[in-house]
Amino acid sequence: MTKRTQSKKYIYAFGGGKAEGNESMKNLLGGKGANLAEMAGHPKLKLPVPPGFTITTEVCNYFSKHNRHYPVGFTGQLTLAIKKLEQLSDKKFADFSNPLLLSIRSGARRSMPGMMETILNVGLNDDIVKGMIEQSGDMHFAYEAYRRLIIMYADVVLEKAAGIDTLLNGYGKGVRKFLEDKMDRYREKHGYRDHHHYTLREHKELIKLLKIIIHKTLGQKFPDDPWQQLWGGIQAVFASWNGKRAVEYRKIEHIPDEWGTAVNVQVMVYGNMGEDSCTGVGFTRNPATGENKFYGEYLVNAQGEDVVAGIRTPAPVNKFSANAQSKDLITLDKKMPKLYRQLNKYQQQLERHYKDMQDIEFTIEKGVLYMLQCRTGKRNGEAAVRMAVDMFKEKMIDAKTAVMRVSPEQITSMLLPMLNPAGERAAQIIAKGLPAGPGGASGRIAFTSSDAVQQVAAGGQVVLVREETSPEDVQGMHAANAILTTKGGMTSHAALVARGWGKCCIVGCGDITINSKEKQIITQDGLTLKEGDYISLNGTKGIVYAGALPLMQKAIEKNKSFSTFMKMVTSFAGIEVRANAETKEDAIKALSFGAKGIGLFRTEHIFYGKGSEAPLLAMQKMICSRTPAERQKALNELFPFMKKDMRQILEIMQGYPVTIRLLDPPLHEFLPHDEGKINLLSEQTGLPADVIQQQIQLLRETNPMLGHRGVRLAISYPEITRMQAKAIFEATAELIVKKKNILPEIMIPVTIDQHELDHQKKIILDVYQEVCKQYKLSKIPFHFGTMIETPRAALLANQLAPHTDFFSFGTNDLTQMTMGFSRDDIGSFLPGYIKENIIPSDPFAHIDEPGVGQLIKIAVDKGKKANRKLEIGVCGEHAGDPESIHFFAGSGVDYLSCSPYRVPVALLAAAQEGIKY
Ligand code: PEP
Ligand code: MG
Repeated sequence: MTKRTQSKKYIYAFGGGKAEGNESMKNLLGGKGANLAEMAGHPKLKLPVPPGFTITTEVCNYFSKHNRHYPVGFTGQLTLAIKKLEQLSDKKFADFSNPLLLSIRSGARRSMPGMMETILNVGLNDDIVKGMIEQSGDMHFAYEAYRRLIIMYADVVLEKAAGIDTLLNGYGKGVRKFLEDKMDRYREKHGYRDHHHYTLREHKELIKLLKIIIHKTLGQKFPDDPWQQLWGGIQAVFASWNGKRAVEYRKIEHIPDEWGTAVNVQVMVYGNMGEDSCTGVGFTRNPATGENKFYGEYLVNAQGEDVVAGIRTPAPVNKFSANAQSKDLITLDKKMPKLYRQLNKYQQQLERHYKDMQDIEFTIEKGVLYMLQCRTGKRNGEAAVRMAVDMFKEKMIDAKTAVMRVSPEQITSMLLPMLNPAGERAAQIIAKGLPAGPGGASGRIAFTSSDAVQQVAAGGQVVLVREETSPEDVQGMHAANAILTTKGGMTSHAALVARGWGKCCIVGCGDITINSKEKQIITQDGLTLKEGDYISLNGTKGIVYAGALPLMQKAIEKNKSFSTFMKMVTSFAGIEVRANAETKEDAIKALSFGAKGIGLFRTEHIFYGKGSEAPLLAMQKMICSRTPAERQKALNELFPFMKKDMRQILEIMQGYPVTIRLLDPPLHEFLPHDEGKINLLSEQTGLPADVIQQQIQLLRETNPMLGHRGVRLAISYPEITRMQAKAIFEATAELIVKKKNILPEIMIPVTIDQHELDHQKKIILDVYQEVCKQYKLSKIPFHFGTMIETPRAALLANQLAPHTDFFSFGTNDLTQMTMGFSRDDIGSFLPGYIKENIIPSDPFAHIDEPGVGQLIKIAVDKGKKANRKLEIGVCGEHAGDPESIHFFAGSGVDYLSCSPYRVPVALLAAAQEGIKY
C-alpha cells in the first residue's frame, strides 16, 4: 500500500488582513512577494493590498530543471489559491457575470528591473468581457483591458516564452509591433483620436482582427479559456528567468541562476476607471536629496505602464515633489485630499516599519486606495548620506546601520563633478574604455601637453587625448579637464596621475584611433573628430561622448551630513587610512577627509608640474653628468628643492607620519625625447646636444619597469640616497627644534633582498649622524622601511623585516611582477581575459586574491613573526578600492594609503568591513 504524503507548500496567500508569508522570506517568495505579504499581513501594517498569492522560487527551479513541468501537488494548490481569491474578492474566475481578473508578475530575490515578464487582465474572453462591462459600467474600459491582455499574452506567452523569434523568421519585428500597428491603422481608418470612441461592433471587430494577426504570425491561437491563460502566464514568467535578457543581467549583477523567480498572482485593480482613479509611485524621502519629505508622482485615469511609458507628464503628489515640468499640475493632496492623507499615513508607517526609505507603488480605483508594491528605494550618494545621518538622529537606526547604509561608490560619486545624467541619456556614445578616474568632464580635444596648457591658459576647456602619457605630459594633464588615452591600463601613468588629482580619466580606449598627423581621432564607427572639437567623458563608467555635456558639481565641504557621516565612519574604521600625496593642496585635502598621515610621498613628483623647471633641470644635469664630481654638483643644486618640498609636507602633516619613498622611476623618464627639447636642454646645461643624445641612448632599456629603477638606482648612485636623506633629516631637524611633532618614514622602493636594505640603511645612518651633529640633536625621529613590490621580497619577508620598522605593499608593481602583466599595456589583452572568464576583473583595479593576495598574506605572516613591531601598510592603487579593502581588512595589514579623493571611500569600506566581522 502506498502512503500518501502531503506535498510541499508551493503557494503563499496574502490579502484580507492576513498573509502566509512575510518579509523575511525573500529567498522563497522573491522581494516583491515577501514585501506584499508583509504589507498585507503584518499586524502593524495590514495595508490594503489587492489579495493574491505568490508561487515560490522553488517551483521556478523545479520548472527549469524538469523540462517545464510542475512539482506534484502544485495544480491542486493553485486551484485552491484561486478559490481563496474568489472568496476574498467576492468575484469569480472564469465567470461571465462577475469575473475575477488577475495580474501575473515576476519577482526575484533581488529586483531585476525590466528583465522579466508581466501579464495583466488575465481571465478575459469574448464572453467574459461582457461581464466586465457590466461590473464597471464602461465598455471602452473593458475592451481596453481585453486588448491589453491580448497584446501582452501574444508577446510574452505565445512569442517570447515559446521561444519563437519573429525577429529572425523574416518578419523583422515582434508580434506586439504588428498588433500595435494594426490598432493604430484601425483607429485611423475610423477617424478616431483614441480607442474610446468605438461602437461595440467596432470593439469586437478589432479584437477579432488582433486574434487573426496572432494566429497568422505565431501559428497559435489566443486562448479563450481563462485557466489556460493563467497557466500560460505562470509558465511565461518562469521561462523569462532563463530568457536572454535576464541571463545577461544576472551575469553582470552576479545573481546566481539557482535563485529563480517567484510568480505573484494578484486581483487586478484599475487606476484607469475615470477621474476618481489614478496610479502612482513614490518614495518615503526624496531619493535625489535625501530630504525627509514624501516624494511621488501620479497620473489620473491611467495604469502603471502609462507612468513608466512617459507619454503623459505625471503630476506631483504634493508640492515637495513638483519639478519644472509638473509644477503647474494639480497635486494629489489637492485633488484627492482624503486619499492623500491615507497614502501619506501608509508611507510613514512603511518607512518606520522597514527603518529605511521605501519605494512604493499605489493605485486608486474609484476612490479606493490600494498599495501595490513596496521595496527599499534606490538613492544617489548625497541622499544616501543624508538619510543615514537623519535616520540615526531620528533614532530610527543605530550608528552601525547608518554606516552600512551608504556604499563606497555612493561616496565616490559625491566627491567628483559628474555629467548631468539627463544630458548623458540624450548624448551620442562614441567609445568605451577603462574607467580610470571617476567623475565627468568635457572639453575640446588637444593632442599634446603644450597645446593643452596653452588652450587652458587662453581660457579654454580641454580634454587631453594621447595614446599614453608620460611624466613629460604632466603639465598638460594637470591643465586639462580630463585625460583620455587609447592605450594603457588602470595603473598606467595616466590613470595614477589622474586618480591622484581626482581627475576624470579614461584609459585603454581602443575604440579610438589617433591620427596625430591630421590631428584627428577616428572612432570605431568611422566618426572623425578634429582637434578643438568637444568631447565629454564619464570617467566612472569609461564612456566617451561627442559634444560638450553639462556637468553637475557638488560642494562636499559644505555638506553637513557628509561631515557627520564621515565622523561616524572613522569611529568604526579598524584600519587606519593615510593618503598618497605630495603637494600642499593634496595633503590639506587628505587631512580634511580624515587621513591619518601620508603613506606614500613619491619624491619624483618634484620634477613634474608647476614649479618643476628648476629641479628638473638639476636632475637632468645629474643624469647627464660624466664624472662623480659633476654629479655631486648637480645633486647639490637639487638638494634645496628637495628639502623645501619635504619640509612643507612634514609641517602640514605634523602629528602624523609621512612615508617618503626614495627616487623610484628609471632615469630616462626625466630626459626629453624630442629634438627641440633636447636642444633646449643643451642650451640650459651647456652640454652638447650629442652628449645628451648619447646619455638618452645609454639609458634606453627594453623593459624599463624591470630595469634600472627603485633601489637599483640607489645602489648605482648612492649619492642620490645621500642627498634625499639629508633633505629629510634637515627638514625634520628644523621642524623639531621648533617643537613640532614630526615623523618621517624613509621607504626604499622595489627591493628584493635584505642586503639592499643594509646597503641603503648604512648611507642613511651616516647622513643621520651628520645632521644630528649639525643641528646639535641627540636624535631625530624617523622610521626606516621598504616597499614590498616584488614577489621575492614578499617571500623573503622574514629576512627583510628585522632590518625595517615598516613594510608597505606596492600592489601596483607586486601585481605586475606576480602576474607578469605590464601595468601599462594590459589594455590590449585584458578585455579578452575577462570575457573568457580567465580572470574575474582587472587585477590592477581589484586585488588578485589567489595570487598577489597569497603573497601579501605570506609576507604579513613572515614579516610580523620576524619583527613583532613591524607596521604594515598598502600604498598601491588597491588601497582605495573597496573590493580590495575587503581582502586587506582580513589580511593583517595595519593601514591603507590612497589618493586623497579616495580617503573617505577607503575609510567607509574599512569601517564596513569592521562592522561586518
Ligand atoms: C606600487 O607599485 O604599488 C606603488 C605604490 O608604486 P608606484 O605606483 O609608484 O610604482
Ligand atoms: Mg611601485
